[in-house]
Amino acid sequence: MKPIPIHARNPGPMTGDGNWTWLIPGRVPTLVDAGTGDAGHLAEVSDALGERTMAQVLVTHAHVDHVSGAVPMAALQPTARFAKMPWLPRDERWPVAWQPIADEEHIEAGDTTLVAIHTPGHAPDHLCFWHEETRSVFCGDLAIKGSTVWIPGTDDGDVGAYLASLERVLALEPARLYPAHGPVMDDPQRVLRDYIEHRRRREAQVLEALEQGDSSAEQLTARIYRALQPALMTLAQQGVVAHLRKLEREGRVRREGEAWNIMKP
Ligand SMILES: [Zn+2]
Repeated sequence: MKPIPIHARNPGPMTGDGNWTWLIPGRVPTLVDAGTGDAGHLAEVSDALGERTMAQVLVTHAHVDHVSGAVPMAALQPTARFAKMPWLPRDERWPVAWQPIADEEHIEAGDTTLVAIHTPGHAPDHLCFWHEETRSVFCGDLAIKGSTVWIPGTDDGDVGAYLASLERVLALEPARLYPAHGPVMDDPQRVLRDYIEHRRRREAQVLEALEQGDSSAEQLTARIYRALQPALMTLAQQGVVAHLRKLEREGRVRREGEAWNIMKP
C-alpha cells in the first residue's frame, strides 16, 4: 500500500499548514478525509485518480477541516460512497448519504483492507484506519508531530477517552502514522508514549495549581501557561477544563459554579 498525500490547501489559525488527505490507489480507490472543498484540492484528487472514479471517502471525524469537502467531492464523484462513524446531529451539516462505520469494521481500500479503530477523545466519532501488513495507521487528529492535540473542554472532548485511544493504537505496535496535519511519523511508538506522558504531566500541573489555591479555570490556565499569547489562552483554557472534567469523572475534583476544588478523602 502506497498512499498518496494530497494537501487540502486550507492553511489557517486552527489548521496550521492545513490538512493532508490520503489517496489509496488500486481496485477500490479510497480517499481518507475529504478536505474542505478547495478547488485546487479537488483538481489534484481528480488528477491522481486518472481514469478511475473514486470508490469511497472515509472520514476520520466530523471536524470541519476533515469533512466539509464531502459535499463538493460528492458532486464531482457521484458514485463514491461516503463513510464515517456517526456523530449526530453534527454529520447533518454536510448533507451526503453517510454510511456508518463501526469499530473494528474491515474496509476494502485500494488493493488491500483497512480496519477502523474507534479512537474518541479529540472528537467522539474519531476513527483511525489500521493497515496491518505495513503496520501503518491513518491517524487523523490522534497525533501531530511536534505538537499536542487539542481536546475540547466540552462534551465533545474527553481526555480520559483520548488517553485510552493512545494506549489502544500503541498496543497495535504501529510502525508508521499517516496524520491529517504535519509530517508522516516513522517513530509512532515514541510519539504516542510522549503524548501519554505529556497528558500525565498536564494533569499533575492542574492538581498542583488546585493545591496552590487556584480554583477557576482562568486562574489555573494563567498559572500553567504563564507565557502564552493571549490569542491562544482560550484554547489553552478549554484544554485545562478538559482535564478538570476527567478528574471530575474520576471523583478527584468537584465543581461548584466557576470553582474547581480537590476532593479530600
Ligand atoms: Zn479534529
